[in-house]
Amino acid sequence: MSALKYCQGPKCHTHDTKDRKRGPKDNKRNETRRRSRFYYLGGNACDMRCQSEWFEVYGSRALDHFGRITEAKVLTKDNAWTKRYDWRSREDGGYQHYIYNHLTDERRNITEQQYDNDQTIDDQGRLTI
Ligand SMILES: [Zn+2]
Repeated sequence: MSALKYCQGPKCHTHDTKDRKRGPKDNKRNETRRRSRFYYLGGNACDMRCQSEWFEVYGSRALDHFGRITEAKVLTKDNAWTKRYDWRSREDGGYQHYIYNHLTDERRNITEQQYDNDQTIDDQGRLTI
């Protein structure tokens, strides 16, 4: 069982919905949504509106904090690898796993273990096998 957490949208409480209402008739108020799980803003906002409002308020500051891209990132044949598979393409009904270079169109078959291994291609798209 996971603990309830609050939506991080800075204006969540201002959106007028039934589930945000609390308190007796003569002292009604709206509160920030609280759930065990959210699906927006990396699991921290209750909906797209709260996600977008978070970004309007904090987005630029987050970029300044974590570092902006200050020069072009470059995709070359050395970091253009992705893992793919053909569904039920083998004679035994199994999937044929392969790595694919989307700049050169090169394709190399790999094993399912290599496909499942997160290290086969690093987080920059470079091949490690
Ligand atoms: Zn919210």
